[in-house]
Amino acid sequence: MKYALVTGASRGLGRAIAVRLAQMGYNILINYAGNTAAAEETLRLVREAGTDGELWCFDVADREKATATIQAWQEAHQDNDEYIEVCVNNAGIRRDGVMALMPFEDYTRVIDITLQGFFNVTQPLLPAMQFHKFGRIINMASVSGIKGLPGQTNYSAAKGGIIAATKALAQEVAKKNVTVNALAPGFIKTDMVEGLDEATLKKTIPAGRFGQPEEVAEAVAFLVSPMAGYVTGNVISINGGLYT
Ligand code: NAP
Repeated sequence: MKYALVTGASRGLGRAIAVRLAQMGYNILINYAGNTAAAEETLRLVREAGTDGELWCFDVADREKATATIQAWQEAHQDNDEYIEVCVNNAGIRRDGVMALMPFEDYTRVIDITLQGFFNVTQPLLPAMQFHKFGRIINMASVSGIKGLPGQTNYSAAKGGIIAATKALAQEVAKKNVTVNALAPGFIKTDMVEGLDEATLKKTIPAGRFGQPEEVAEAVAFLVSPMAGYVTGNVISINGGLYT
């Protein structure tokens, strides 16, 4: 059995990615922050796609819980040599506001979930990926992490940081056939963009529309596939031509 961990998989992009990976034959470890009903719906869709999964409720920024959950899974699976070969670091939040008025907690929370979350979840998976000489790590960045967007110093810092970490880690593990890439979506229709002025924003996007979660999930499917083994340390933009 092949296993993939998707953080923030209860809704939005994470759910679409979980379902797409299930279609590729992966059992999915469905991480989420607290929305169990939504996570259960993801699990239902994963099963509908023909595999199975587990619900992993923990805050990715909580180092103790993240590592304890992953280590317990690894101990339970060590006998039959199973390991988590795909890790999609997708969990993320947005707490927008101009920096002059931004509460410190809004600044640190967004960065912690993205950057500490990446470390907490990815580090325990690296030894097995390297030992088995196959691994795929995909980090969810954003157009904000490339361009920097006003009102998002916290989010831009987090996403810019994850892009740099992607490039660094890619070079550390490339010889072991472990690839590390980032995706940089523009505006994708999920709960995260609720409340944005879609009609106005659409006019700034050459494609004239917001993207669908499945269009991001398809890029994950490509990066995970064996023939993408020579693609590493990259950032793929999925933004309808909203170039940075
Ligand atoms: P979303 O619909 O708001 O879903 C967020 C997901 O992350 C949920 O599953 C949520 O779990 C989970 N989550 C939040 N905080 C967490 C934490 N501390 N630990 C574990 N899980 C946590 O967001 P989305 O639009 O799918 O975004 C997914 C990723 O894509 C994010 O990293 C986001 O920054 C990035 N992105 C999105 C867009 C866009 O336009 N949508 C564009 C660029 C980048 P619960 O359901 O339990 O709350």
